[in-house]
Amino acid sequence: MDLRQPLIFDGHNDVLLKLYRAGGVPAAAGFMTGLDGALDAPAAKEGGFGGGFFAVYVPSPVDLDAKMEEMTKPEYQLSLPDPIAWRDAIPVVMSQVAVLFELERLGGVKICRSVADIRAALASGIMAAIFHIEGAEGIDADLNTLEVLYQAGLRSLGPVWSRPTIFGEGVPFRFPSSPDTGAGLTDAGVRLVKRCNQLRIMLDLSHITEAGFWDVARHSDAPLVATHSNAHAISAQSRNLTDKQLHAIRERDGMVGLNFAVAFLRSDGRMLADVPMSQMLRHLDHLIEHLGEDRVGLGSDYDGAVVPEEVTRVSGLPALRAAMEQHGYGTALIAKLCHGNWLRVLEKTWGA
Ligand code: ZN
Repeated sequence: MDLRQPLIFDGHNDVLLKLYRAGGVPAAAGFMTGLDGALDAPAAKEGGFGGGFFAVYVPSPVDLDAKMEEMTKPEYQLSLPDPIAWRDAIPVVMSQVAVLFELERLGGVKICRSVADIRAALASGIMAAIFHIEGAEGIDADLNTLEVLYQAGLRSLGPVWSRPTIFGEGVPFRFPSSPDTGAGLTDAGVRLVKRCNQLRIMLDLSHITEAGFWDVARHSDAPLVATHSNAHAISAQSRNLTDKQLHAIRERDGMVGLNFAVAFLRSDGRMLADVPMSQMLRHLDHLIEHLGEDRVGLGSDYDGAVVPEEVTRVSGLPALRAAMEQHGYGTALIAKLCHGNWLRVLEKTWGA
């Protein structure tokens, strides 16, 4: 078996944030030649990474090292950063979208607005990129920005990262904790969900509180999708999904992308990188058991999280394919997990 196949189409990466922090548009050239990080064009070729959801995310002014250090402890309860106003968020959003356009101009990605676009990109060997927003701080209550960004290629949106927005609340980083940590959608959040349905922008439920999850389930007519979350039954993280939530995702024919972040994989919840591939397989088994083989994929969180040592970069992804094969997954199931299920759910969400 060629372990660079089937190509992986992935639910979440933060390379736009990384390039924004490295200086924005001028830094995008590094993506083509190689970056000191998880995802770039040469590493993608090496590992068979075909593309995925490229998140636009407005960072809070927090000490990331201190946050990571706190999450190595056996229990933790990080406080949430302050909300970010639209006027402060929008320049950051524009900068990161400009980086995405620059990556396309350089030939590093193709921004995909339809599943046909994704299939064509995967077939041609160019990385397929979905313009995704993680946390809707950059969207105004009247949703005018949503319309403009949709025209610019936005096709997927999470109403919240973990900070509260005008649309709802996200879960704080807590272990152990249920995802039922706060309020659900606001009235503006319900309007956002309905407008996303009309525009057929995919709604991402990773990060949202359990109350928010059920509010989206009630108000949205689209498949329920969590791009980068794991099984709460295995890792009792606020960020992971309970079996009850998985049941709802199955009922609504959505899917879940496996998050590689070690704190969400490990049963002890600690942000420590010595995680064997077998722990990733435990989550995949649980997700497949509760969702079925057609509703599970990958959502690595590359360039946004500490990930297991064997798959630190996208060039390491052959180790994951090998682990799936050794675990007894057949060729058809591996193809579904690597990209087939994402294309299926996107087709249902966006239309053919
Ligand atoms: Zn995230």
